[in-house]
Amino acid sequence: MFYKKIISYSGKKYLYSPSMNKFIQTSEPLFEVIDSASSLSKAELLNKYFMKFDSQLIEDCLSTIDKFKHLGFFENISPHKYNYVWNEEEVNEIISSRMNSITLGITEQCNFRCKYCIYSGSFENQRIHSFKKMSLSTAKKSVEYLLDHSQKQTLPRVVCFYGGEPLLHWDLIHSIIQEYGNQNNTLQYSITTNGSLLNKEIIEFLIDNNVTLIISLDGSKEIHDRNRVLNETGKGSFDTVWGNIQMIRELSEEYYKTLLICNAVLSPPIDYSILKSFFSENKLTCMTHWVEYYGSDLVQNIKSADVKGWEKIKKEYYESYTQGVTKKEGEQFVYDLFDSFMKRIHHRDLSPLDGSNIIRRMICIPSARKLFVDATGNLSVCEKIDGNENMQIGTIDTGVDVKKVLDVMKQFKEIQSIDCYDCWLIRLCDLCHIHVVNNNNVDIAKKQFNCKLAKSFYEELLQLYVSILERNSNAFDHLKIEKTGVRLL
Ligand code: SF4
Ligand code: SF4
Repeated sequence: MFYKKIISYSGKKYLYSPSMNKFIQTSEPLFEVIDSASSLSKAELLNKYFMKFDSQLIEDCLSTIDKFKHLGFFENISPHKYNYVWNEEEVNEIISSRMNSITLGITEQCNFRCKYCIYSGSFENQRIHSFKKMSLSTAKKSVEYLLDHSQKQTLPRVVCFYGGEPLLHWDLIHSIIQEYGNQNNTLQYSITTNGSLLNKEIIEFLIDNNVTLIISLDGSKEIHDRNRVLNETGKGSFDTVWGNIQMIRELSEEYYKTLLICNAVLSPPIDYSILKSFFSENKLTCMTHWVEYYGSDLVQNIKSADVKGWEKIKKEYYESYTQGVTKKEGEQFVYDLFDSFMKRIHHRDLSPLDGSNIIRRMICIPSARKLFVDATGNLSVCEKIDGNENMQIGTIDTGVDVKKVLDVMKQFKEIQSIDCYDCWLIRLCDLCHIHVVNNNNVDIAKKQFNCKLAKSFYEELLQLYVSILERNSNAFDHLKIEKTGVRLL
C-alpha cells in the first residue's frame, strides 16, 4: 500500500495518497493499524492491538482501509503499468509549438567571482568564466526560434538574458528589445544580473520596456558580502548593488515593487529572521534558493546551528494564513518563501492515475517549454547545466535535434525507474535534470542526495498545508496560477 502519513500541528492524522493525489483525514486507530494491515492477517492484527484498541474498532479500520483501497487510494505506481514511451512524432509536435521562454547566455564573462558560483572552475564539466560573447545574429535567431516555436502557447513568451553578467553585453540586450518590442503584448523580457553595472540610462530603458529585473542579492551587507565579491579586488559588492537598487526605487517605486525581484542564494550560516527583516523592510520581492553544490561542504555538513529562524518563519506563515491574512505589511519575505510551494500543492492535479500521466508529467521534455542558448549558439536543456555536453540538444543554426531530446529523456527515465515508483512524492516532485546530472552524466548518488532533501522539505510543506486548511479551508483560494509568462530563473 502506498501512502504518506502526515500529522498536522493540531495533532490530527492524515494519509496522503500519491495515486489519488489527495489527503484523507483518519482516526487515531486507523492511522496506527494501517502500517500492518497489508502484512498481518486480521487475527494477527487483533492480537497485536488488543490491549490498545477495541476489536470492533479494528474491524472498522480494516473495512475503511478496504473501502479506500477499492477506490484506488493506496494503489502502488507500477513501473510496468505506467511505462509510457514517448515517440519522435509526438515529441516533435510538442517542441514545435508550445515554447514559453528562451534563455540567452549572452556572455560567459563576469565582473564578480561569487564563492559558490557554478562557473568558478570548481565544478567538473561546468563551463568556466571566459570572454565568449553571443553575436547579435545568434541572439536574433534565438528570438525568432522562440516566436516560431510558440504558436500554440497562450501565455506571453519570455526572452531571458543571462550570463556571466549580461549587462557586460548591454548593447545586445538593447538592440534585441528595440527590434522585437513586445509583439502586441505577447513577448516579455527578463534579465538576471548581479546588479553592479546598472545606471540611470539602463534603468530608464528597462522601466520603459517593462523588463523584469532579477538581481542577485543575498541579503544585508554582511550576508551578501560573504560570497558575492568583485573579480578585480575580491571585495564585497553590496554597496554598489544596493546603490543601484536605491536608484531604481527613486526612478520608479512602481517598477521597484512589481518588476524587480531579488534572487537570494542561501548558504550557511542562514538566519531567516535577518533575511525577513532585510527584504520585508525594504519591500523587496525575493526568491530564495539554497546554494546548489552536490558534494559541497556548504550543504553536506550543515548543522542545525547553521540555520536559524526556520521554525519561527513557518509559524508566522501559518498564523497569518489561518487568520485569513495573505499579505501583511513588513512580512513580504514570509509569503515569498512559501506561497509558490503552497500554490504548487494547492493546484496539484487531482485526477487519478490513468496509465500514463505520471510518467508524462514527470519528465520535462527538453525545449518543449524552455530552451537555453549558449554564447556560441549551442542549445541545451537549461542554463543551470550549461557546458554539459550530454545535455546539448542542437544548435541555433540547425535547430533542436529531436533524437537528442529523446536521448536526454531516456537517460532521465532510466534513473527515475530506480526509485521514483516507490516514492510518495512522485505526484508533487519538482526535481529535474539539474538535480540528477553530474560530470556530464546522470548520477544516481546525486539524485538520491537531492531526493532526500526534497522529501524532507515536502513533508514539512504538506504538514503546513493541511494544518492551515484545517483552520481556514479557503486560505489558499487567492493563490491563482499566474497569467504571465515570466519565468523566474
Ligand atoms: S554574478 Fe553570477 S555569474 Fe558572476 S560570479 Fe556571481 S554567480 Fe557567477
Ligand atoms: S523525490 Fe526523488 S525518488 Fe521521489 S519522485 Fe522525486 S525524483 Fe523520484
